[in-house]
Amino acid sequence: MKSVTYQTPNGPRTIEYNENAPCVMCELPVVSASMGGTAVCPWCDCGKNRDGTKWSGEDAARAARNYQKNTRDGVAINQGEHPDCPAGT
Ligand SMILES: [Zn+2]
Repeated sequence: MKSVTYQTPNGPRTIEYNENAPCVMCELPVVSASMGGTAVCPWCDCGKNRDGTKWSGEDAARAARNYQKNTRDGVAINQGEHPDCPAGT
């Protein structure tokens, strides 16, 4: 487990997460929390592949399909964590 602290309007909020849990978009281990939250990997958060190249339209469409499949009402099914950045609300 790893933890990450987000700044929120109500002060810092620390979240524990499993760095080996699959990203809701690319389904590879998230490795590290992103500004998009603990269920979206830093690569998908920037619209990039793991090799650093930008997503093609096809890549973006696949990420959107995976997001639909792996989340319900904006919550990652496999992690129970909100994939959106808590500070962004
Ligand atoms: Zn990802």
